[in-house]
Amino acid sequence: MAPNLPPNPSNSLDAFAAEKLAGLEAAALRRRLAVTARGPEAAAERGGRRLVSFSCNDYLGLAHDPRVIAAASDALRRYGAGAGASRLVTGNSPPLAALEERLARHKGKEAALVFGSGYLANLGIAPALVGQGDLILIDDLGHSCLFAGARMSGALTLRFAHNDVAQLRALLAEQRGAARRALILTERVFSMDGDRAPLPEILALAGAYDAWTLVDDAHGLGVVEPGQRAPLEMGTLSKTLGSYGGYLCASRAVIDLLTSRARSLVYTTGLPPASAAAALKALEIVEAEPEHAARPLMLARRFTARLGLPEATSPIVPVLVGAAESALALSAALEARGFLVVAIRPPTVAPGTARLRVAFSAAHDAAQVDALAEALAELAPDSLRAA
Ligand SMILES: *Cc1c(COP(=O)(O)O)cnc(C)c1O
Repeated sequence: MAPNLPPNPSNSLDAFAAEKLAGLEAAALRRRLAVTARGPEAAAERGGRRLVSFSCNDYLGLAHDPRVIAAASDALRRYGAGAGASRLVTGNSPPLAALEERLARHKGKEAALVFGSGYLANLGIAPALVGQGDLILIDDLGHSCLFAGARMSGALTLRFAHNDVAQLRALLAEQRGAARRALILTERVFSMDGDRAPLPEILALAGAYDAWTLVDDAHGLGVVEPGQRAPLEMGTLSKTLGSYGGYLCASRAVIDLLTSRARSLVYTTGLPPASAAAALKALEIVEAEPEHAARPLMLARRFTARLGLPEATSPIVPVLVGAAESALALSAALEARGFLVVAIRPPTVAPGTARLRVAFSAAHDAAQVDALAEALAELAPDSLRAA
């Protein structure tokens, strides 16, 4: 026995967790994991029921494409299940090099660097480029990992209101002079709202103030017209490309610096070779089949037109509900009708803006989209009127 230890330390730990959980439960903010078997054609099986999923980010259905699966299986057999080490040691398998070359070409950049995930990419990029004495300006609706990377960098981090170019200009005018370096963080397509950043305006401002711009393209790659590219184009292999992993495309100098300095690359095991091979095949398909890549946005527009919502500008359509509890109830009602549309609650979105986030895929057919629209019109007429 160790007499100086407080009695039952594990009880205070469990009491802490239980109390926190009770608070979350009371606010309808507790989250639970539900085992979900995804299949082809946007199918998802949960609790023994087969649902049509409108919650996957696999916008082109490539996770189940036989060509992607074959490429992954080949790599799996040839190189094994895991990378075995950091990419800087022995974990830099041949499919990674091929994927980086293809990503760079796709984005019109000199080079690319693949990370273990999009989240890891964003944890590594900002801290390698800016630090104390520097400035980060970030869109208020930026993804959690953009904020996490900004915090880790130690740079002064200021938010600008979502897509508010005038406020961004004002902040640059006010703060740029005092900072050595400045970095602007935004997204091509915003993950929970489906709208797009005004990139031409932001890039022009960045040029005028010698600020560097990082665009998170997690939800844009392959499914929206990219428009102007930023000097730093990051994204994920786990949405449209149907695999797993993250990347940055940039100049050769920037990629070489990140290869040495991004801690979330240096100190973590390389991506499994099969994941890289799958993403490479998926990217080839995205480039070779533009009609397929155009389908999710077309279906999203069909949906917004049927419900009288503002026209979709990406495959993501938010249906604003408001209270977290109501969003959960609406999601459950849709699930009872065979649709998987997961409720999005704070802190993922601002308090009072809980919503259903409807994600369209090339794997849906028009009849499924129409059926969902009909169900929503019946179950949530108020949310639709408010929009
Ligand atoms: C999903 C997402 C990420 C993280 O990518 P992962 O590969 O899933 O870690 C980063 N940014 C945005 C905007 C995202 O939606």
